[in-house]
Formats: sequence, structure tokens, C-alpha cells
Amino acid sequence: MAIDNGKQVVYCVTGASRGIGLEYVKQLLERGHQVVAAARNPAKSNGLKTFADKHGSAVTFVTLDVADPASIKAAAASVSKAFPDGIDILINNAGINGNIVRSSEQDENEFKEVLLTNTLGPFMVTKTFLPLLRKGNKKQVVNISSTLGSIGIAAKPLKGDDNPDNLAAISKMQVAYKASKAALNMTTVSLAVDLQEEGITLIAMCPGWVDTDMGSSATDELGIGKPPLDPPSSVAAQLKVIDGLTPEKSGTYFNHEGDVLPF
Ligand code: NDP
Repeated sequence: MAIDNGKQVVYCVTGASRGIGLEYVKQLLERGHQVVAAARNPAKSNGLKTFADKHGSAVTFVTLDVADPASIKAAAASVSKAFPDGIDILINNAGINGNIVRSSEQDENEFKEVLLTNTLGPFMVTKTFLPLLRKGNKKQVVNISSTLGSIGIAAKPLKGDDNPDNLAAISKMQVAYKASKAALNMTTVSLAVDLQEEGITLIAMCPGWVDTDMGSSATDELGIGKPPLDPPSSVAAQLKVIDGLTPEKSGTYFNHEGDVLPF
């Protein structure tokens, strides 16, 4: 059991059914933490089922659709009941990428859906879970972003500083996804500034290019190779960054290796 200031450390991970979120739950449980695994349909995730058998009461399953305010409210109420002393670290991981099309051909309705899930979703979850975070010891929020959301990197080819290996710089695709993560980054910084005096720390984190359903979906459309990272190595590296978080680092955009990225 992992204890901090006499209390067990409680993590809440959204989008826990598969991919990076599922791996977060796995590694946090192996480290002896208490984990809230939040997913649209936890009962449908075979991965989550195995954790229930193995880790018993260390894992709490919560139904949470980050695009639905009523679902977020109900999830916060059930987490509050299970953890009256609050939660320590919220990992806003749930996300979608939408269809991979040229940015100039992006469908508007899908753009809205991607923004709702990737930007408003983590915002609404953080806002609704704030009372729980305020009660926790650590008071940390990790918003899983992407280098594709870095305007600084995306603008490079236009400025004559093109790197042919840098997908974020060369991709003509995915305006909705990129914009949703850029807006998530600004949401992270805005909340970090607002909540700093309460000792609440928020960061944006790119997990690297990871071999998940989302990570591998781009390879065919873009004619690029396989993602170089598997979920275990990405999450292990991200956890090192999270372990080293201090209030002074609030408002920073990290990659999984702890490098600071340009917004
Ligand atoms: P996956 O597609 O493998 O998993 C996405 C997860 O998000 C699933 O658990 C899915 O749940 C969940 N999700 C989607 N929409 C919602 C919703 N409305 N409410 C709750 N959960 C939802 O993706 P990854 O694991 O690769 O991605 C995780 C995060 O990492 C995302 O934010 C992504 O943008 C980011 N990222 C990933 C990269 C990569 O290379 N893989 C690179 C950079 C960033 P369900 O099973 O119900 O569909």
C-alpha cells in the first residue's frame, strides 16, 4: 500500500478501458496505489476485469463519459462516496482522434465532437472533481495532450525549419485533433494560473507516439511506420514525470521523458 502523509494515494484515470489509460491503472495498482478506473463502460473492458480479480478493493470502477456533464456529475458523486477524503491525482486521459483527413477537409460536426471529448471533457471533469482534489494531499491534475497540439512545432515547416521525422510539424492532417489538444494546453495553463494559490498543480503531458488503437490508426493513412513506444514503457516514463511534480512545475507541457515542450 502506497502512503503519503498518512493517507493512501488515490489516483483517478479517465478512459481506463484500454490503451494508455488501462496501462496507467495496471502500473498504479502494481505500485500499491488506490485507483479509480473511470470508463464509459467499465464492465465491457476485459483488461479492467482482470484487475478486479487480482487487486480486489484497490480498484474502484466508475462509469464516466467525459463528453456528458450528467455522467461526470454522477461519477464525481460516486467517487466522493467511495473516497470521502478526496482523491490525490486526476489523470485526464480519455480522448479521440476523429477520422484522419486533410485539415482543409475536416467535417465540422466531427470537429465539435473531438473538441467536446478532448478539450471540454477534461475541463468539465477537472471542474466537477475539484472538491475531491481540494481534499486530497497531492492536488495534481495531468491532462494527456499531444505534441500534435503544439502550435510552436506545427508552425515550423512554414517558417523553413522543417524536420521530416517530426509528425507534428509535417502532418497536413487532423486539424480537429490538433486544435483540441492546443486548446487543452491553454485550458491547463489557465486553470494552473487560477488554482495556483490553492496549491493545485496542473500539467499537460504528451505520452509519446504509443502503440494503441489510436496510436496505430494513423500509420496507414499517413504512410508512416509503427509507433515506437508500447504502453508499458510510455506509462512507466510518464509516471516518473508525475512522481517528480511540484507546484512550481504547474502549467508546464511535458513529454513522457520529462522534456518541456513548446506550447
Ligand atoms: P485509445 O484509442 O487506445 O483509447 C482511448 C480511450 O479513451 C479509451 O479508453 C476510450 O474508451 C476513451 N474514451 C474516448 N472517448 C471517451 C469518452 N467520451 N468518455 C470516456 N472515455 C472515452 O487511445 P490512447 O490510449 O492511445 O490515448 C489515450 C490518450 O493519449 C488520448 O487523450 C490521446 O489523445 C493521447 N495520445 C495518444 C497518443 C498515441 O500515440 N497513442 C499520442 C499522443 C496523445 P472506450 O473504450 O469507451 O472507447
